[in-house]
Amino acid sequence: MGGSPDHETGGGFMDLGTLTTAFFVAWLEEIAEQVRVHRERLTALDAAIGDADHGANLDRGFTEVLKALADSPPTAPGQVLVSAGTTLIRRVGGASGPLYGSAFRAMGNAVEPPVTQAGFAAAFEAGVVAVERLGKAAPGDKTMVDALAPASLALALAVRDGVGVREAFELAARAAEEGARATIPMQARKGRASYLGERSIGHEDPGAASSALIVACLVTVSSRR
Ligand code: ADP
Ligand code: MG
Repeated sequence: MGGSPDHETGGGFMDLGTLTTAFFVAWLEEIAEQVRVHRERLTALDAAIGDADHGANLDRGFTEVLKALADSPPTAPGQVLVSAGTTLIRRVGGASGPLYGSAFRAMGNAVEPPVTQAGFAAAFEAGVVAVERLGKAAPGDKTMVDALAPASLALALAVRDGVGVREAFELAARAAEEGARATIPMQARKGRASYLGERSIGHEDPGAASSALIVACLVTVSSRR
């Protein structure tokens, strides 16, 4: 369980090459900000093949996530992620709430401080698996999995190749972005968009787009210190 307190030296994002509690809090703060900035774009994507609430769902959800983190400040990376996941499950009505919520909870339960790059990659993979299980979705179904799975693979390969943290996040962000773009020609097989059948073709999946955003926030935060 990732809830045990770690022994960090300060408020920095990295401590002896490992990702700190402050890093994970900053990641969620950055996600909340970027979701707000991209709210209309996410909603427009969902208007095309869904019910036009994806931007609003995530904006409300991540705003609540920050409130919960402020109300009970976490002392370990796992606590940050489990708290975020629990809030998303409770506060977001759409499909994306339980899916992202399960992903963050699974990540939180998988991270064990000190969170090395390999530990992060393994936890991220646990998050993706949680989405695939709950959503019964696989790559190619035109969902968030199409952005998350390539990002996870990129993180694992970066660990194998001994790539530094920041560059690993950049590779993951690029893979997620390409994965999201690759959903455009796909026909949706899961979620609301699947009701449209062939008419879902030609539009980027909103959840894949928000997943790419969430992964990109790792780059922003790791570039800061
Ligand atoms: P809702 O579809 O309930 O309105 P949102 O609009 O917030 O919820 O989220 C829609 C996104 O959720 C989709 O674009 C897709 O990426 C993702 N999604 C929906 N159903 C599934 C599923 N079964 N498995 C994986 N992802 C899914
Ligand atoms: Mg929707």
